[in-house]
Amino acid sequence: MSIKSRIYYVGIVGYGYMGNFHCKKVNETDGLKLRAVFDIDEKKTEEMELKDINIYKNMEDMCTDSAIDLIIICTPNDSHAQLAIKALEHGKHVLCEKPAAMSAAELDEIINKAEKYGKLFTVHQNRRWDKDYQTVREVLAGELIGQPVTIISQTFGQRGVCFGWRADPEKGGGMLYDWGIHLIDQLLLLFPERKVKSVYARLRSILTPAVDDYFEAELEFDNETVAHISVGTFALQDLPRWFIFGDKGTLRLDDFTGTAGGVSRIKEGVKDFQRVTKNQALGPSRTMAHLEKENLENIPLPSVEGINNFYQNLLAALNKEESEIVTYDEMRRDMQVLEAVFESSAKSQKIVTDI
Ligand code: NAD
Repeated sequence: MSIKSRIYYVGIVGYGYMGNFHCKKVNETDGLKLRAVFDIDEKKTEEMELKDINIYKNMEDMCTDSAIDLIIICTPNDSHAQLAIKALEHGKHVLCEKPAAMSAAELDEIINKAEKYGKLFTVHQNRRWDKDYQTVREVLAGELIGQPVTIISQTFGQRGVCFGWRADPEKGGGMLYDWGIHLIDQLLLLFPERKVKSVYARLRSILTPAVDDYFEAELEFDNETVAHISVGTFALQDLPRWFIFGDKGTLRLDDFTGTAGGVSRIKEGVKDFQRVTKNQALGPSRTMAHLEKENLENIPLPSVEGINNFYQNLLAALNKEESEIVTYDEMRRDMQVLEAVFESSAKSQKIVTDI
């Protein structure tokens, strides 16, 4: 059998929301075949019993199934490292849900095992392909708003809840581990060559005791760009998903579609900043008054495809045709920033970093 036509047999650990998601992705990907599922809650796998899938009752059975090549970990966050290490020690490749681990030290333990056993370890940072984020990347790459001075990246729910284990600190609950890791990953990838030189953050439990159901973090890059990240579960008015102040213009993206919002900048050659729209509500002073419309250029938002090639890359990486799209360095930076956010909030002070 040529390497390209090889089938990789997959076991899924944790068959909840993301376990189901990965099951569908595996079924859609030629070259991957679902062989087994294990969930500590046996009810979760009842529906699978009718299909030609092995249902295991523990991780040991999953790991000792010699036909399994790849184990996908979709359990609550506190169990990722322990399960990933066990799978790697049994010679399995591992795809783990985010966050890769609870700390940078845990992540390093996993990476050391992957290197020791020569197996693939990757993390599902799927929000890199979201259309809103891809639109931000296009706007910045095209220098449509010049140099970004301040980037605001935020998302809020309205229901005020952290579901199930997400409300349990022992399980790795809270919004920083849940959504924060995605927003941190996205931001760091905007400036892969830059260092984060400080982090200042505040975690809050507004309606869910024991875990952060709200946090805000400020990351200062060594190119002087500052990023503000906020996530909360209880905001009953809408804020834009992204707002970026550039030195030549401004970007606002209202939601995850990447199509609602706009890019505005001053028309080429316009110098007459004295001419302003006198609107007391919008700008009740000369300084804050709006520019007249004819001096503003509203640029259409770039149209992005947002095609997620995570699984194609996974297969190519298993076949050693490509390297993994989510690198160890990127995982480490994500975890280091996340730890600095926790530390800053616990100490109520800015943390000087070199990440
Ligand atoms: P979930 O509660 O829907 O499912 C978790 C499942 O794991 C449950 O069925 C539970 O019974 C099972 N489980 C718990 N401990 C286990 C163990 N030790 N061994 C085997 N099974 C165990 O949770 P979810 O929303 O699917 O989240 C799972 C993971 O996926 C989390 O790490 C979360 O951060 C991540 N996630 C990622 C995304 C994304 O967009 N990438 C979205 C949602 C969740």
